[in-house]
Amino acid sequence: MNYDAQLDQAINRLHEEGRYRTFINIERTRGQFPHAVWTKPDGNQAPVTVWCGNDYLGMGQQQVVMDAMHEAIAATGAGSGGTRNISGTTVYHKRLEAELADLHRKEEALLFTSAYIANDATLSTLPKLFPGLIIYSDALNHASMIEGVRRNGGAKRIFRHNDVAHLRELLEADDPNVPKVIAFESIYSMDGDFGPLEEICDLAQEFGALTYLDEVHAVGMYGPRGGGVAERDGLMGRIDIINGTLAKAYGVMGGYIAASAKMCDAIRSYAPGFIFTTSLPPAVAAGAAASVAHLKTAQHLRDEHQTQAGILKLRLKGLGLPIIDHGSHIVPLIVGDPVHTQKLSDMLLSDHGIYVQPINFPTVPRGTERLRFTPSPVHGPREMDALVSALDTLWSHCALNRAELAG
Ligand code: PLP
Repeated sequence: MNYDAQLDQAINRLHEEGRYRTFINIERTRGQFPHAVWTKPDGNQAPVTVWCGNDYLGMGQQQVVMDAMHEAIAATGAGSGGTRNISGTTVYHKRLEAELADLHRKEEALLFTSAYIANDATLSTLPKLFPGLIIYSDALNHASMIEGVRRNGGAKRIFRHNDVAHLRELLEADDPNVPKVIAFESIYSMDGDFGPLEEICDLAQEFGALTYLDEVHAVGMYGPRGGGVAERDGLMGRIDIINGTLAKAYGVMGGYIAASAKMCDAIRSYAPGFIFTTSLPPAVAAGAAASVAHLKTAQHLRDEHQTQAGILKLRLKGLGLPIIDHGSHIVPLIVGDPVHTQKLSDMLLSDHGIYVQPINFPTVPRGTERLRFTPSPVHGPREMDALVSALDTLWSHCALNRAELAG
């Protein structure tokens, strides 16, 4: 067997399909985010402004977060030294879980090393707890949910994205007596559109299904304490399992579910992705707990975040650039073909010091290739002006279409 040749074939397939990914090597500058240093493939360095990060509120460089991490390292060292079961449960993990349970007004929360693992581990474990379970999953759910649903061996139904009529049809077609769970997201990160939370909760109630909501792109940013869209809409009590990340708006790392004490106890006891892996470093848990606690009262950051997103959308629309606007903080600019998207991204980086990763198929459908901007409270007017003016110039340079301007 020629293993190298097989690897070449696999990689070449990606090149041929235009799906080969290259990573940009950046180093964020402490205290100066969104400014960072880009190390080019030839080893030279250049300053860049990051416009596609998920540290949505700049919490990764917040003093209270860094202080908490420094203190925890000084107090307890680097790693946790074990799985949660075998010596890896520390006071830092317990404190963070209590902070998260309180955030979502649930009895308990359960920490995982990422929200990806939390989704995968929980969704793949549910059929062990509820034999015969059918999972109804939104067609555009994140890869981690798809993976959990795929691996769980139970029955699955995929409903068209945000289509509650289709979901109802599927629910009606199944035996009313089998256990069911509906898995969906509050904000879909590629278009920035919201899930129909209330309608799905109504359907779940009508058909006796559990609700599983991924709030990864909403926690910290929506709701009066950062509890997400379900908190904003007064629906947290109707969601059985809430999934969130500590790596985006909270600026650190890790993922979790928040649910009833019994649900957390069962997942804790049955999910291999929780049991058989080393727990997060205490310093990470300490930083995340400080971040969650901070954002419970930092409404001004949520307000500034929305203001920044609103300004960017308004300015891009004003230039006739085809953005998608669903009223969330995510600003996708549709370019519509992979070559132009890559070219725009390359020129923004090399000629303007602006870093925004191109988003191509299969992450988004062909013909909707895009640049996806994530403005934050730490992107000031200078950064915004530079971005808008560079996009204006490059859009003309590439002779791309603009929308008709009203008036
Ligand atoms: N869920 C959604 C909707 C996501 O977009 C992501 C990551 O981008 C995840 C889960 C995974 O989050 P984490 O980075 O904590 O693994």
